[in-house]
This record gives sequence, structure tokens and C-alpha cells, in this order.
Amino acid sequence: MANIDLRGVVTREVKYSENSRILTVLSKDMGKVSILAGRSRLSRSGALIATQLFCYSDFEVFKNRDGGMLRLNEAEVIEPFADLRSSLDKMAYASYFCDVANHLCYEGTEQNGILRLLLNTLSKLNKDGGDGALKLEAVFLLRALREAGFAPDCGGCVCGGGGRIKLLCPADGVFCCEECAAKKEGKFCIEVNDTIYKAISYIVTSGDAAAFSFSLGENSTRYLAEVAESYMTAQLEKQLKTLEYLKMVRDL
Ligand SMILES: [Zn+2]
Repeated sequence: MANIDLRGVVTREVKYSENSRILTVLSKDMGKVSILAGRSRLSRSGALIATQLFCYSDFEVFKNRDGGMLRLNEAEVIEPFADLRSSLDKMAYASYFCDVANHLCYEGTEQNGILRLLLNTLSKLNKDGGDGALKLEAVFLLRALREAGFAPDCGGCVCGGGGRIKLLCPADGVFCCEECAAKKEGKFCIEVNDTIYKAISYIVTSGDAAAFSFSLGENSTRYLAEVAESYMTAQLEKQLKTLEYLKMVRDL
């Protein structure tokens, strides 16, 4: 069968056998794909770097006659994002971002919006990281949810009463005023003030280039990231291990 060319980010790798790994790649036009990468191929083609976690690379893959999984023939790195693997903090953030992307994307379905967002975020994290990581996280999570169609509705409270927003209900994906919030008894909600509501609205509704361009105080940024994490967890209906790990690293 003819070779297939793919371009994308390695978002996951698991050991398959003594001599091979399975890579998950979020690729341009083809969405999420699994690729079996044997060690003999890697040493022969010198593609070891290109297949590392977080690398943005070109891959040449093929399928055996009997079908099955895509197999790696060659790989060439475009952007290694080397700093992401040199700091525990950056590694923890990048792993969570890639995990989220893997959960929001489907095999073989084009998800170029999420790929673009992931590349943009990894690039910023690779370059700056440190204090800016919480802001990157909040923007990445909310924009990824938007791309996947799960962003919260930022048009005010569902009642349309125009009251001040007090809460975000992650499971329902809506903001509530005080009156409506009182009726949400028993449902998990997060308190949000005006600043957080406006920041979320900005991130969710602005254009790609502008989404990262806002300033917020340190405490608000920390809380914004916390709200975005809770919202993501509720939408995925799953507690990701990479988020637990990130929280642990952040508390060190
Ligand atoms: Zn209301």
C-alpha cells in the first residue's frame, strides 16, 4: 500500500513491546491517529527525536497488506519544543494539554482548530512558561472547549433577566444570576465574579490571535485556571490523571 504523509504533534506515547511504541499524533486534516513505531525504523531513519512526546513532525506511514494499525516509515522533526521536556512544570502542563486534546478529538476526524490551538499553546509554553503558564492553561482549556462545541454560553443568565452573574454551572454549560443560582441547589456550581465572567467571555468569543491578549491579576488568573479545569472535567465527565499530576507538581 502507498505511503501516507502526515504532519502533526505527538500527544501520547505508550510502550507496545520491547521494540516498539504506539504514538498518538494529532495530525493536520486527519485528526487523531495511532502509529506503531518500531525501534529498527527509528534507528535507521534517525527519526527518534521526531517521535518524542510534544514534537511537531512530518511522518511517513504505511499500512500492511493485512490492514491494521498505521506503521511508521520515516519521521522528520519540524519543531521539537525541547524546553517542554527540560522542566517538570512545563512537562506537566504540556502533558495535560495533550491529554485534553486527545480526549476532545476523534480518530480520523479533522480537528485543525484544536491542532492549531495546541501548537500555539505549546509554542508559548516552550518559550515563556513559568508565571504565564496558568493563563496559557485557562485560554487553552476554554478555547479547546469552544473548538469542540462545549464552550459555556456567555450571553448572560439563562433567565434573560440581566441580573449580575454569580455562578457557572459546568455540567449545564451556563452562567447564572443569583436568583437562578438558588434554584440550582444540589448541582455543582462554581462561584464567579464579574472579572472572571468577563475574562471567560473574552476568551471564548475573541478571535484566535487575540484570545491570549488580556491582562488579569495574579489571584484572578489562578482562579480562572481553576474554573477552567473544573469546567473541562465536568464536560469530559472524567478526572484526568494528567490534571492530578499537574496539580501535584504545581504544589511542590
Ligand atoms: Zn437568572
